[in-house]
Amino acid sequence: MKLAIFGGGQLGRMLAQAALPLDVHCQVLDPTEAPCAAAAARHIHGDYADHAALDRLADGVDAATYEFENVPVEAVEYVAARVPAAPGATSLACAQDRAHEKQLFEDLDIDVAPWAEVNDPNELRAAIARIGLPAVLKTRRFGYDGKGQVVIRGADDMDAAWEAVAGQPCVLETFVPFEREVSMIGVRSRDGEIRCYALTENVHREGILRQSTPLAADTLQASAEQSLTRVMQALDHIGVMAFEFFVADGRLLANEIAPRVHNSGHWTIDGAVCSQFENHVRAVLGLPLGDTATRGPCVMLNAIGQMPTVAELAKVPGCRIHAYGKSPRPGRKIGHVTLIAASPDELKQRLAVLQAVMIG
Ligand code: AMP
Repeated sequence: MKLAIFGGGQLGRMLAQAALPLDVHCQVLDPTEAPCAAAAARHIHGDYADHAALDRLADGVDAATYEFENVPVEAVEYVAARVPAAPGATSLACAQDRAHEKQLFEDLDIDVAPWAEVNDPNELRAAIARIGLPAVLKTRRFGYDGKGQVVIRGADDMDAAWEAVAGQPCVLETFVPFEREVSMIGVRSRDGEIRCYALTENVHREGILRQSTPLAADTLQASAEQSLTRVMQALDHIGVMAFEFFVADGRLLANEIAPRVHNSGHWTIDGAVCSQFENHVRAVLGLPLGDTATRGPCVMLNAIGQMPTVAELAKVPGCRIHAYGKSPRPGRKIGHVTLIAASPDELKQRLAVLQAVMIG
């Protein structure tokens, strides 16, 4: 079978790597010269707005999908007229807009921190008066890895914050003093079957994910699965979806969804029976879903800006290395390492050694 993917970054690369053992061959559309997925898939060099490139992407494939949520909705709709495209434009449009996303959470009775739409400085002032400070101002569209968002701690920060978001349509939300951050990743098949992975605890620094650990039988597992299920069903979502939450006062508060495979699910390649990547490929091609069970204790660490050498990582037992073939640059995700162990204690010991190697 053949699968078309919008985007040729590391997520496209890992989708293509997971597809091959199923005898599924991928082609990716990406506007850059040498996207990292080109090592694992056929690269179609072109723009997402170029119909000729979209026609080439759809040629001879059984289905199409995307690896990032900023692909234009029109491009997905154009390809969807020729081949089954999943997740659909509804999931994409919702995830592209923080206000739509939060409204959907509220409509589905999923708890979310107080928020308001903000389109100009007057609305920002009114929103601060209603929500209080500290608060976070986020652009409605095109934010990622902490970009397009600014914390407002005092009334004096307001003008600088509005300048920082360049006057774009925004949402203002309460700054949540969370105890921890978690995500739930699940997959929904064409016939509506849903399978979820273990709730995953995530550590961010400077808005960028650093570390993800699947939790064993966490008390919030059922509640997170329920929220994800509601959203996937409401959007008639097909494929993998990630739902990020804050945990405050022991309860889940919705942060955001990603209608795609997600960084906090990279541990599933080495730590689950069937990875998020393979399950996404299966779902979008209409194949039966794979087992989402965790195989044992593991933790995933992102390599940000630099990747330790294989020789350095070989000193830590239990490392599974995933380099993306991207050139090092500060703040850039260029690989990840999943550490596996026979017991939680062994994982803890190995993690302390690995962290020293990763940070350098
Ligand atoms: P986001 O792009 O919305 O997922 O934000 C990236 C990261 O910034 C989150 O994972 C949190 O660590 C932090 N963050 C975002 N929004 C808030 C908030 N309302 N309160 C506290 N921290 C936040």
